[in-house]
Amino acid sequence: MHKNFKNIDKVVYGRGSFDQLNNILEEKRIENDRFMVFVVDEYFKGKDLEKRIPHKLEDLIFFENIDIHEPTTEQVDRIRDIVKEKKGIPSGVIGIGGGSIMDIAKALALMMTNEGSSSLYQGLNLVKRPGVYHLGVPTTSGTGAECSMTAVLTGPEKKLGLKCDWTVFNQVILDPDLTTTVPRNQWFYTGMDCYIHCIESESGIFYNEFSRAYGDQALKLCREVFTGSKSGQNSENSEKLMIASLFGGLSLTYSEVGACHAFSYGLSFVFGMRHGYANCIAFNHLKEFYGDAVDEFKEMLKYHKIDLPQRLSKDWSEEEIAKMADVAYKLPHMWTHALGQNWENKLTRKDIMDIYRRM
Ligand code: NAD
Ligand code: ZN
Repeated sequence: MHKNFKNIDKVVYGRGSFDQLNNILEEKRIENDRFMVFVVDEYFKGKDLEKRIPHKLEDLIFFENIDIHEPTTEQVDRIRDIVKEKKGIPSGVIGIGGGSIMDIAKALALMMTNEGSSSLYQGLNLVKRPGVYHLGVPTTSGTGAECSMTAVLTGPEKKLGLKCDWTVFNQVILDPDLTTTVPRNQWFYTGMDCYIHCIESESGIFYNEFSRAYGDQALKLCREVFTGSKSGQNSENSEKLMIASLFGGLSLTYSEVGACHAFSYGLSFVFGMRHGYANCIAFNHLKEFYGDAVDEFKEMLKYHKIDLPQRLSKDWSEEEIAKMADVAYKLPHMWTHALGQNWENKLTRKDIMDIYRRM
């Protein structure tokens, strides 16, 4: 069966486009109990951007610290409960921040209309009703969370997305100016998430012309941003990386991620490593999967003087390695893409553990 995927309803792109947020929200304010919920990365508290957020007296605003842990089901449930108790059902949810905030906003919009804990809905098509209107304003570039069908949350039992058509944003505002303050290491790691999406998308059996069209352009833009003398974190490149992120996301939506993301999920689950960083730790050691792209990645690391930690595995216990291998092994769609339908004949849990030991 061919995928039938849901795209974002509307997109605004360009420097300064954040200032259109007020107008965009105006016509939505008549829905439900007539207020908006803003979920904003706490980093922006006290910064200029805070003053530009068009929140009105009736609105609620939550500044979330996403440095303590990746987004959790408990966090989404907590915000939902406060909103419903204080004011009812909002007209919309607006997320302003990186991939973590995008995921919280998407999940929160769904949980406004679905009963119980968000952990009940981690999986494919488990959500019962459409959520409220939701709008994403990414302030990092690379994850593709702005266009994906999933809101990744860590629950009591698993790290897994709430995945369905209704998860996708109704609107995104892509304003590259908002990304210029991202710390350099974070800029690199989140940007590499996009580079790795493109490489994984093209290196597997689900690759097709749809994915290629987006993936080739995203990869070209990533190379302009991360290789050569014009590379680096500047405003021209912030425009490029924002579109690369969107296109990389669209490429993998119609293809699949692969081995690197499987390893990365294990690292995030056991050690709580951030997604982009965990991808880099894994990708660095996956030459047998991704060949020349791994050499190119190492050059980008060197060029941008990113000091990626080495030999982390010397501090890992056998139990931790086994747990990571378990998490990674249970992602059959990624392995099928990377190695083919009979992947279980080509890769064992022990092979996965051996690869973790190299990291
Ligand atoms: P992030 O949202 O976790 O933020 C990383 C750091 O950057 C934080 O300290 C944050 O405060 C800071 N930050 C964000 N914007 C900033 C700005 N403009 N200036 C200064 N600092 C800023 O990082 P990320 O890499 O964008 O997202 C990672 C998350 O995205 C993970 O939780 C991962 O699970 C999720 N993700 C989701 C999808 C999806 O399809 N839903 C895909 C990939 C990753
Ligand atoms: Zn990713």
